[in-house]
Amino acid sequence: MEWKGDPIETKNGRVRAPKEVALGIIEGDGIGPEVMGVAKEVVNRAVEKAYEDRSVVWVELLAGKKALREKGTLLPKETIEGIRELKAALKGPLETPVGSGHRSLNVTLRTALDLYANVRPVQYYGAPTPFSRAEEVDFIIFRENTEDVYAGIEWRAGTEEAKKFRNFLLEEFGIEVREDAGIGVKPISEFGSKRIMRRAIQWAVEKGRKRVTIMHKGNIMKFTEGAFREWAYQVAREEFGEYVSIGERRPGRILVDDRIADNMFQQIILRPGEYDVIVTPNLNGDYISDAAAALVGGVGMAAGLNLGDEVALAEPVHGTAPDIAGKGIANPSAAILSGALLLEYIGWKKAAMLIREAIKRAITSGRKTLDLGGNLSTEGFGRAVMEEMENVH
Ligand code: NAP
Repeated sequence: MEWKGDPIETKNGRVRAPKEVALGIIEGDGIGPEVMGVAKEVVNRAVEKAYEDRSVVWVELLAGKKALREKGTLLPKETIEGIRELKAALKGPLETPVGSGHRSLNVTLRTALDLYANVRPVQYYGAPTPFSRAEEVDFIIFRENTEDVYAGIEWRAGTEEAKKFRNFLLEEFGIEVREDAGIGVKPISEFGSKRIMRRAIQWAVEKGRKRVTIMHKGNIMKFTEGAFREWAYQVAREEFGEYVSIGERRPGRILVDDRIADNMFQQIILRPGEYDVIVTPNLNGDYISDAAAALVGGVGMAAGLNLGDEVALAEPVHGTAPDIAGKGIANPSAAILSGALLLEYIGWKKAAMLIREAIKRAITSGRKTLDLGGNLSTEGFGRAVMEEMENVH
């Protein structure tokens, strides 16, 4: 990924990131403010230690309850504009009511900014896990972020809209759907499938990854998930022919293959070391990311990056955890690691590496938050990570 923000310095013909980068920050709801405060501090320290002359300027953007309190709306226009302008931001979790109330702010943000790739690296940092082969886990999941059953095309059972759609199916196609059914539509396009696959292979090429596996349920949903598989293979063949080998391992080439979604779940457990980049439609991606995160200690450790062509929004995979909000005990690792992803995105890889290494050292030396069986507070863990940073050379 290359830095696309302003200003770019050019020195000896080489494009370099600026010395001071402005990044947006959304605190979020629930445990958001607690974990994001610590993430910000750790990122600042890592940048200072890695480069001395560089720094991040954080620009607060409002969303969720804080935005409602201060601006009278959950997602002010200025927030979306702000992210677009800054080009990179770190976001805390935002609350979404289940089954009623407002549409997910996360989905609204992803749609408004066309953040079509949700990238979730899953790596082991030494957290306690019932899975005995966690050390072998090192996946990057590329989840398509804008289509599939998440597109928001659905109607509640018994509504006029559901009735209309049922009648349409009956009259046009002779298909009967039960009268008391809620109905959803699953759009998966060639455009959407190809651009996520393109991004996944680009990542694999840039990071020296060895395998890209297409995860789908194309045996059942032939014209959506099956088509996703076909279009993804097309991109591999037609656009990355010199880098990939389809279906069989060849020296120096990235293996591109596919697995049916249910099999993929057992594969990551039975053969964790064999998988690398996994690219998949929206719903599969949501499920497999949490399952994969569980192998290495749960969502408290899982970070994500939402990518568009121009904009990146990093966020922890977990939600607002209302049961522990305000207690100062949440694990800030996922938020800190999301900060590391953002640093990597802007090209400040050394600072990102420092953070990852320090988190690993803190956890393996027993300095952990409660969810991982330790006794540190959110802030205490942040301090432990910054102390460990001093030992990384
Ligand atoms: P959740 O907030 O991720 O919490 C589930 C459970 O995981 C928590 O009750 C807590 O378990 C544990 N947990 C999560 N993050 C943790 C952390 N950093 N440190 C320690 N433990 C952590 O999921 P949810 O309860 O399904 O969702 C709550 C709200 O968050 C909903 O409104 C949902 O829509 C929203 N949400 C937002 C996002 C987002 O903004 N991207 C993502 C997911 C969910 P214990 O019981 O062990 O304390």
